[in-house]
Amino acid sequence: MKIEKILEYQKKDFDIIKLERQLENNEDKKIYQSMIGVVKDAQNKSTSLDKEANALIQEYKNLEKTYNENLKSCGVVLNTKLDKISENDLTNVSTVASDLINNMSILEKKLMYLAERVNAILSEFENTKKRYNVAKQKYSAHKTAYEKKQSEIMPEIEKKRQEIKKLESGIDPVYLAKYKQRRADKMYPVLVPLIDKTCGGCRMELPSASLQKLKENGFLECEHCRRIIYFE
Ligand SMILES: [Zn+2]
Repeated sequence: MKIEKILEYQKKDFDIIKLERQLENNEDKKIYQSMIGVVKDAQNKSTSLDKEANALIQEYKNLEKTYNENLKSCGVVLNTKLDKISENDLTNVSTVASDLINNMSILEKKLMYLAERVNAILSEFENTKKRYNVAKQKYSAHKTAYEKKQSEIMPEIEKKRQEIKKLESGIDPVYLAKYKQRRADKMYPVLVPLIDKTCGGCRMELPSASLQKLKENGFLECEHCRRIIYFE
């Protein structure tokens, strides 16, 4: 196999890799992908706020029930004709009335605390909604920008892929397969020259037997980094 063919293949393939990297490292892509997480977080947050709000509603209902019970007792106390009851009963009524006042004061505090929590949830919900909207907007804007870039670069990549495909017939299929496999593993360059007595990729020195083999075949797989070392 001629070294020039596969080296030319690698050189042209590098142009494709550069274009692919442009897409991989595209800033708009990074931003829109990170926004997916923000949107999901906001959705989860509103779900948990919704649960909290439901729990507060239940709490409110319980307080309302207690309040109504107290109100009923107040009615009983208010309807008692004080001039017609014994002194003993009067003391009882006074105790009940003072208990009711206490209960009502506790209820009032609980209701105020509940109101504070409702307000907190509402404002958190508002913030979450804002965050969600901003993230969604950012997602769309950067996705559109990325797709625009992609529509410019992809045809270029496709064109170059067609070009290098034509070179494949001049390359030993075994080496071509090895090349493609390493390329898929994101190894670049796959083919490296022999530099002094070392692999041009990882710089490990080759044993003399391997060196001999390389000089005979023109190619050798580096045992250390799996690159293909060529000898010109
Ligand atoms: Zn190596």
